[in-house]
Amino acid sequence: MVNLPGDNKVKNRIVIKNGVLLVMDDAWTLYDDGMVVIEDDKIAAIGPTSDLAPKYPQADRVIDARGKAVMPGLVNLHFHSGIGKGYCDHLPLMEYLMTAWYPLTRNVSSQEAYWAAMCSYSEAIRSGATTVNDQWRQMEACGDAAEAIGMRAVLCCDVADDEHQLDSLADNERLYQAKHGRANGRIEVYVGIEWLPLSSRKLLVGARDLANKLQTGIHIHLNESLSEVQESLRLFGRRPTEFAYDCGILGSDCVAAHCVWLSDAEIALMRETGTNISHNPASNAKLGNGIARVPEMVRAGINVGVGHDAAECNNSVDLFSTMKFASLIHRANRVDASLFPPQEVLAMATKNGSKALKHNTGSLEVGKKADLILINLKNEHFTPLVLGEQTNIYSHLLFAANGADVHTSIIDGRVVMEDRRLTMVDQDEVFAKANEAFHTLLKRI
Ligand SMILES: [Zn+2]
Repeated sequence: MVNLPGDNKVKNRIVIKNGVLLVMDDAWTLYDDGMVVIEDDKIAAIGPTSDLAPKYPQADRVIDARGKAVMPGLVNLHFHSGIGKGYCDHLPLMEYLMTAWYPLTRNVSSQEAYWAAMCSYSEAIRSGATTVNDQWRQMEACGDAAEAIGMRAVLCCDVADDEHQLDSLADNERLYQAKHGRANGRIEVYVGIEWLPLSSRKLLVGARDLANKLQTGIHIHLNESLSEVQESLRLFGRRPTEFAYDCGILGSDCVAAHCVWLSDAEIALMRETGTNISHNPASNAKLGNGIARVPEMVRAGINVGVGHDAAECNNSVDLFSTMKFASLIHRANRVDASLFPPQEVLAMATKNGSKALKHNTGSLEVGKKADLILINLKNEHFTPLVLGEQTNIYSHLLFAANGADVHTSIIDGRVVMEDRRLTMVDQDEVFAKANEAFHTLLKRI
């Protein structure tokens, strides 16, 4: 506990100094030797170490970030906690869903989901994510895991019509009552919709009504595959985004995942409604779903963030690898190396994701929530390192780094991972229990 004149409400102060500070503000401010002051859950000051250090002589904790970059934590905008990575993953989307994903997620117990979520959040934190937008099953258990490990999480159920034996809107409302606003607001609850092939008009309209009643957002899969588009046309006579629009699903409080097969008219609907899109290029590539029209989305002014999707359809929660994909796949596809330069993609994974969820995170600015990561620069990935006007650090972060370069993670002002070890839970127990959860679930189905 430290108290300076005028700030006697501060309970905990962390000072991070001597780091390369990537503010990620609109001016792309970078301090070669910078300092961040965290008071409780917020950023209280930021600037050159030489200016700030004399003003903050006292702290509960001082972290020397020499040889490290300090940047905002990443926002994984489309996330499913995963339990069955590497199981049946040679199949295309529809067959995969029927053979592996639905049997696993329909039958997962709350205990198994807890450890699966814990392992998924562990991988997220240890690869630089400080926020996940998680749609899965047994979400109260996932919320317990997020609270325990220190993750910032937006949770929603996997809602579909009753005959599909997933979650209902009533389940989602119960989750909201149980978890929304928990852990100093670190846990929030959205309304989730699995996707249109498992939905009726009544369900979609009901999802919007529930979101409005609870004053929360919606998280849905849209236009992920060509087969989904065909199924939507067969069921509703409309393409997925058109039908979602008809039912009132779209809006600035909605995160639509994938959006691979959008027509020009559907892009216009996304723009008109201010809907946020999560681009999940690695999952889309692995499942053979195609390449989203992200250059057109960005040109239309749509807010686009990035997500890994699920460990089952990406095999890595590491957003650094997903970010690299998000740049390279469009350069290759459009034969244009000018597309998606490093800063644009890093912004997608930080401030755009934060904006989509209406969070006060995504950049290191005074008054924002203290969600940030320290990255080890003393390795091959960041060599040679150029700072100043001609810096190549953004390039290294996008094209050369991976999640294992993340050294320390702070979420909501708490150190949740340090020197690559989780601080709030026993990491080895997490791996052991998540392994056991998959095997017991598999035996049962
Ligand atoms: Zn998904």
